[in-house]
Amino acid sequence: MSDSIFTKIIKREIPASIVYEDDEIIAFNDISPQAPIHIVIVTKMQIETLNDLNSDNAYLIGKIALAAKQIAKDKGIDKSGYRLIMNCNDDGGQTVFHIHCHLLGGKKLSWNPA
Ligand code: AMP
Repeated sequence: MSDSIFTKIIKREIPASIVYEDDEIIAFNDISPQAPIHIVIVTKMQIETLNDLNSDNAYLIGKIALAAKQIAKDKGIDKSGYRLIMNCNDDGGQTVFHIHCHLLGGKKLSWNPA
């Protein structure tokens, strides 16, 4: 498997505005923000899609949620609220095939998945 753009960020081969990192998770500002706060939370392990999760690696989704909670607190939006989104494959709008979660906030978000 070739390195995804997110793996290149993890390896510091391309720049990103990193807001959180631990042994297994990294998070950085989205290059094309859809809200005042739009952060991509990524597993360092390069797993292509949600369909590739299994009982060995599913704990990473919990780690993403814990990172999101911490980032939301750091950004001061934990009380006002925020949204987490994971896109899977074409109909889900996935464009980077390396599991990640979008953290969106900083305004009242509308709900229109159409
Ligand atoms: P998705 O469409 O769910 O696969 O989300 C991929 C996200 O990664 C999009 O919101 C892109 O704007 C974002 N993205 C792509 N390349 C970069 C990059 N180099 N740095 C930060 N965000 C990126």
